[in-house]
Amino acid sequence: MSEQANFYAGLRHNLEQLREQGLYKPERVLASRQGAEVTGDDGRTLINMCANNYLGLSGQEWVAQAAIDATEQYGYGLSSVRFICGTQTIHKQLERAISQFLGTEDTILYAAAFDANGGVFEPLFDENDAIISDALNHASIIDGIRLCKAARFRYAHNDMADLETQLKAASDKRHKVIVTDGVFSMDGTIAQLDKIVALAEQYGALVLIDECHASGFMGPTGRGTHEHHGVLGKIDIITGTLGKALGGAMGGFTSGRKEVIDTLRQKSRPYLFSNTLAPGIAGASLAVLRKLSESTELRDRLHENTAYFRREIERIGFTIKPGTHPVVPVMLFEAPVAQKFAARMYELGVLLSGFFYPVVPMGQARVRVQLSAAHTREQLDTVLAAFERAGTELGILKV
Ligand SMILES: *Cc1c(COP(=O)(O)O)cnc(C)c1O
Repeated sequence: MSEQANFYAGLRHNLEQLREQGLYKPERVLASRQGAEVTGDDGRTLINMCANNYLGLSGQEWVAQAAIDATEQYGYGLSSVRFICGTQTIHKQLERAISQFLGTEDTILYAAAFDANGGVFEPLFDENDAIISDALNHASIIDGIRLCKAARFRYAHNDMADLETQLKAASDKRHKVIVTDGVFSMDGTIAQLDKIVALAEQYGALVLIDECHASGFMGPTGRGTHEHHGVLGKIDIITGTLGKALGGAMGGFTSGRKEVIDTLRQKSRPYLFSNTLAPGIAGASLAVLRKLSESTELRDRLHENTAYFRREIERIGFTIKPGTHPVVPVMLFEAPVAQKFAARMYELGVLLSGFFYPVVPMGQARVRVQLSAAHTREQLDTVLAAFERAGTELGILKV
């Protein structure tokens, strides 16, 4: 075989192995908008319990209309990076609106939160500094840290004693930054930001949080995990996405002190060398932030739905990871059970995702439910009835 043929044969072999191990991820094709109810390309209607559509905005008419309006006014795109000729008034407006929403001084936009995390460490920290990172932080944080020369310290997930140990180990470094997801999406675990901020103050460290699963709905007015834990104004750097609760299209941001954001505008590579966020997305995101600043209605409905689902699913007899976040891991423990369960739920008209090793630890297989403000009580009752039925059929619930 030629070298080139070897290359392609190698890929085919690896893909085959993924399939055999049940780790190959097929893509489900939707023929409809995103929403509490979606239509598959096979024409089936499904209640969707696996989108990051926490506030139910993704498929909303008024959000789409705001994108259309901004597109009409500002055009389809800029064909430029921000600093050459790609900054419009709408981008500056959105940066101000995000800063105001989060309680920060300034904000810089990216094409995605993956880029925000990829471009936040290298411009701000070097070999004299230390990054102290939760072991379960998102892939984009891990990649961003890899691009930076700072010394790396990892603390056991959500373990404040180990965080303190690592802060001590990093004590001879110039600047130290503690990095954590505000909310961890696999378990719905909320980072203990009150304790993290206290440790940061004690050891002279900065704090960076990734708010992708929090912005728009965590905390009494939906500002995020910092509001939830009463440390608004005490977080140095916040990264987040426009692609989940805040409308669901795409786009990311980093927010913080003026000198941080200004430095990123000068030096952050995914910002300098990648195209401007489309004006339509900027316009829709602005409309979303305006709405969320006026009323907590969507955030309140999401938390009501979450509390209802968490209570009822336990009453039926399932085991969940305790908590308050709209990510609800329903534990099935064994991988084949989780696979069969998700497949049966699909037949019963409910879309949810199964997770098993190596995505979660061995013996911790589960289906993950994600609540949305768009779910009606009737839809949740239909989903709960399907859980009860599938659980009984598969012998998970004892009758
Ligand atoms: C989804 C997610 C990202 C990536 O966000 P995009 O805007 O889709 O790139 C980054 N961090 C966390 C914690 C996420 O959940």
